[in-house]
Amino acid sequence: MLRVLIVEDERPISELIRMSLTGAGYQCACVYDGLAAADILEQETFDLILLDVMLPGIDGYEVCRTLRAKGYAAGVIMLTARTQEADKVTGLMTGADDYVTKPFSVVELVARVDALFRRVSGNPFARSEEHTSELQ
Ligand code: CA
Repeated sequence: MLRVLIVEDERPISELIRMSLTGAGYQCACVYDGLAAADILEQETFDLILLDVMLPGIDGYEVCRTLRAKGYAAGVIMLTARTQEADKVTGLMTGADDYVTKPFSVVELVARVDALFRRVSGNPFARSEEHTSELQ
């Protein structure tokens, strides 16, 4: 099962995302600040990280930059309340694969998660059963 780490300090949003992704068949873990994100990423492997930008401790950009510097290959989708083009570019330059601007619909978020996994399906963390069915 694909594992998703949700890094979001607003618990109602975090819980909504967790329920939606769990319902879509993903296994989810939640942390609520940047330092906890850095800690769990040292210990566990995830296939995708949903990373809020504005976090207590260290912000989402820094979390993303750090994990990419360490060679962590998981997909990263930034969650941002900011709408300025410069912030989106900053997010992508730190190594994020996509971003979603708040407020977002969970339906859109789940669709983007699914799309990211499809896009990276050549990577080791892709769903192997999909490869099999494509080859047949
Ligand atoms: Ca936040």
